[in-house]
Amino acid sequence: MKLYNSETRTIEEFIPYDEKKVNMYTCGPTVYHFAHIGNLRSYIMEDILERSLRYLGYDVKRAMNITDVGHLSSDGDTGEDKMLLGAKRENKTVMQVAQEYTDAFKRDMEMLNLKWPEYVVPATSCVADYIKIISKLINTGYAYYSHGNVYFDTSKLGKYYRFGNEDASNLSVGVRETVEEDENKKNKNDFVLWFTKSKFENQALKWDSPWGVGYPGWHIECSAISLKTLGEHLDIHCGGIDNRFPHHTNEIAQTESYTGHRWCKYWFHVEHLITKSGKMSKSSGEFLTLSLLKQKGYAPEVYKFFCLLSHYRKQLLFSYDTLDSAKNMYDKLKDRIKKLNFNENFNIDKSVYEKFDEQFKSSLANDLNTSLAITAIYDVLKSDVNDTTKVALLKSFDTVLNINLFGFLNNEQENQGSKEVPSEVLKLIEDRKIAKQNKNFEQADKIRLSIKSLGYDIIDTREGTIVKKL
Ligand code: AMP
Ligand code: ZN
Repeated sequence: MKLYNSETRTIEEFIPYDEKKVNMYTCGPTVYHFAHIGNLRSYIMEDILERSLRYLGYDVKRAMNITDVGHLSSDGDTGEDKMLLGAKRENKTVMQVAQEYTDAFKRDMEMLNLKWPEYVVPATSCVADYIKIISKLINTGYAYYSHGNVYFDTSKLGKYYRFGNEDASNLSVGVRETVEEDENKKNKNDFVLWFTKSKFENQALKWDSPWGVGYPGWHIECSAISLKTLGEHLDIHCGGIDNRFPHHTNEIAQTESYTGHRWCKYWFHVEHLITKSGKMSKSSGEFLTLSLLKQKGYAPEVYKFFCLLSHYRKQLLFSYDTLDSAKNMYDKLKDRIKKLNFNENFNIDKSVYEKFDEQFKSSLANDLNTSLAITAIYDVLKSDVNDTTKVALLKSFDTVLNINLFGFLNNEQENQGSKEVPSEVLKLIEDRKIAKQNKNFEQADKIRLSIKSLGYDIIDTREGTIVKKL
């Protein structure tokens, strides 16, 4: 696998710390509003990265945070705490808002059939870990207490900004902790690890700490959650390109100062989805959601196909015209697949299979070139190999691209499957469906476990639920 590493700004051979085992961390959503289709571009490409690594033989473990406390950031807002903003807007408590939009995010992930990472951790559940890290940073001289807040001392680092040669003090992007007004800091780039005094006196969630009752700075959550779930050596850290500064820069500063050694080997950043009027952002209030696209007749996989046609390191301009062209292409592609002969069982032509599979793999291994991977689908369809081989290849490709190329077959599979499934399991599946309709995801997850304990598992597809024997 060759991957572009934002830290070295070159395409590198991907070599994880531990041979074929990959630890991957993804910056998760700030749950004060719906995820927009720009956010989802990042999650789609991160999912494809994970699936590609698996396809290429790596064993991936992945973690993601849910930002449900604090978060001031850069996308043009006035520096107000985003969770409080959401609570005010909806006349709810911060935790109600967090729950509502975490559930909405789960639904988006399900609609796009994106894999839920092994570890998904809300920021509010790790306060003891932040305190542990911050205490050590103070003890080792990397952090200091000043007028009620604890700051990271960036002057203690050899190189603070690692994603380019610019001096961080000149970076205009997103300075989060109201830097220019804060006279308690020793250096301009110092950032807050723990607040007890800030202009947000009305902060809803506060915890006791050795420095007084307060709340964590934003960046510490990703360092702590990554260390806690994936250990001290991280192979890939993902996020949208806006996260390079200050978020990822500060994550590196505090994590490496805490552990005393190099932390993350590869930084994977997805460029933005933009519209004619600029970057799509939640704080501008003008954004498109997946549900809105669905209402307008664009299936989630059409949006995913649209994303995959472009390279993740290029900005992607969204317009309904370009989405329509992607939809046309996608519909035609599915029509061609439907016409394949599914009834006759030819022998798979092994050498042709391997040739195309190699082509597909090398597109993915070429810094995740998804548009070339899609070209491999057309090359298979054009070739004169028998249809059984074509179907086998395209099914295999779709485990990575995940664009539901064979959705039309699912209903048949579902019916076939249900013939042998015990009525007890069928009843549980029905209960789970109702729990999901009522947005009771906790209950739905519990029911799924009961189904598993009876020796069955279920796969949610856009066409319905498929049951399989374990
Ligand atoms: P947020 O929920 O705002 O914390 O963002 C979640 C993820 O979406 C982060 O990785 C962001 O960098 C990313 N992101 C935000 N805006 C865009 C955009 N317009 N296009 C692509 N990714 C984005
Ligand atoms: Zn993060």
